[in-house]
Amino acid sequence: MKVLKFGGTSVGSAERIRHVAGLIGGSEPKVVVLSAMSGTTDTLVEFAGCLYRNRRQEASDIIRNLEVNYYMVVTELFRTDDYIFRGKEFIRTICTYLRSFVNKDFYPLQEKAVVAQGEIISTTLMNYYLEECGVPNTLLSALEYMRIDKDGEPDYFYIRQNITRELSRPEVRQLVITQGFICRNAYGEIDNLRRGGSDYSAALVGAAVEAEEIQIWTDIDGFHNNDPRVVEGTRAIRRLSFEEAAELAYFGAKILHPSSVQPAARANIPVRLKNTLNPGDEGTLITAASPAGNVKAVAAKSGITAIKIKSTNMLLAYGFLRKVFEVFEAWKTPIDMITTSEVAVSLTIDNTARLEQILRNLAQYGIVEVDRDMAIICIVGDCSAGKTGLGARVMDALAEVPLRMISYGGSEHNISVLVKEGDKKKAMVDLSRKLLNE
Ligand code: ADP
Ligand code: ASP
Ligand code: MG
Repeated sequence: MKVLKFGGTSVGSAERIRHVAGLIGGSEPKVVVLSAMSGTTDTLVEFAGCLYRNRRQEASDIIRNLEVNYYMVVTELFRTDDYIFRGKEFIRTICTYLRSFVNKDFYPLQEKAVVAQGEIISTTLMNYYLEECGVPNTLLSALEYMRIDKDGEPDYFYIRQNITRELSRPEVRQLVITQGFICRNAYGEIDNLRRGGSDYSAALVGAAVEAEEIQIWTDIDGFHNNDPRVVEGTRAIRRLSFEEAAELAYFGAKILHPSSVQPAARANIPVRLKNTLNPGDEGTLITAASPAGNVKAVAAKSGITAIKIKSTNMLLAYGFLRKVFEVFEAWKTPIDMITTSEVAVSLTIDNTARLEQILRNLAQYGIVEVDRDMAIICIVGDCSAGKTGLGARVMDALAEVPLRMISYGGSEHNISVLVKEGDKKKAMVDLSRKLLNE
């Protein structure tokens, strides 16, 4: 069985939905995971924002526009009056449900139910469209099997047990359509896998059903060697290892949700990134091993805060680092990058929700300095210890960019540097020009 995930742009219009329907035909068993049509989740988040701020009229207007837009999609998508009617009735029901929040108090729990509607709409429209075309398929609600635990982590056992049971029902067809992004939490409430989480859904489904391949279909021909939104002239990479892909996704390559590689790697299932608009292209294949080589790609993550702790009683005496790390553990804040000297340690975080408490706790161990608005640039490829010259080439490419931190040797496939947000673009462009394209 294969698992195929189509992102928001891939199902972003009636024409695109029809195109995807053409790609998922055939007799092989498949689970197709869909995102919401592009823009819908943003709109639903905006709607929720209005409700939190008590802007009820604005909230109503948002839903009216959403409804009108979806009526247009329905009219364009279906050929028969019967399906146009069914499609419109379905949209009406969802929009009536959304409107029911407008005159009530609004809580985060309800926001989760609101933002889930995008995927519920896209999958239902696909299910109706395939039916109208006479293609047998089953719409399987992700709320029946996808679940996170109390820590927000996937409940692997529950997911496997429930999806296996659902897929083995005799009435289930070879082609199964299901929602990405949405799930239930440990209390059975509607929740989600965070923005961009449909990739993660597909990987979790793939691992649970032991798929032969997980395909992530998007609007670009695979994993590029730098961020195409920032740098011109980037090109697709044909092969990556799980570790390299995870590193790039975590450090900002938007093409993959940061957590999505892990379930595939754990189950050793190949992940293929494909372009919906160019299905013949081989895309990028991500597997356990990938060909060695030089530097493969660069990614960047913004919104980073650097914290430096200078030990007051000098020297990184044993126990000092443990005490520092314990502060971050106590406030459940992951550290991304770390560099040390004899008298100080610098580290970075991207979640600043508990920054104040962290700084207060750290102050007992030394002098603390904070640099906000930084970016991590992550250089991924073969950085094994035996290699000579790589550090020099990276530093040479970045000769004109002030570097706040450098991290080399943490793994065999990553060099990271920390720069000011304002220098991020130059660093990425210079790395492409002087390192990737040399
Ligand atoms: P989807 O809606 O299909 O999930 P996304 O917008 O989340 O698609 O991801 C695809 C986009 O990721 C591309 O259009 C591209 O702009 C962006 N992107 C960022 N970094 C990379 C990269 N290294 N390789 C390919 N695409 C990237
Ligand atoms: N629709 C969700 C979002 O926009 C999930 C996804 O597209 O992956 O974040
Ligand atoms: Mg995405």
